[in-house]
Amino acid sequence: MTETLKTTSVVSCPDCGHSVVEAMPLDVCVRLYECKNCQQLITPESGDCCIYCSHGTILCPTSQMEKSSYTIVRQRRAGRACTIN
Ligand SMILES: [Zn+2]
Repeated sequence: MTETLKTTSVVSCPDCGHSVVEAMPLDVCVRLYECKNCQQLITPESGDCCIYCSHGTILCPTSQMEKSSYTIVRQRRAGRACTIN
């Protein structure tokens, strides 16, 4: 096993451009994120499952698993299964 999940991503605020390194949770999709600089609430763009996919440098762990060889259940993009707490 050479592939490992990346669990940190640099999230850039679409409003002010401020970027922060964030640890990504493995089992939840983050759909709301408050920019630490301008307090703007960042949300995913349509079609993306979480703010990391829309505004981060690395896809969220869920999406990484979907693309990788150790995918468990392959789902189409529209029906992407995210665990929401
Ligand atoms: Zn901001």
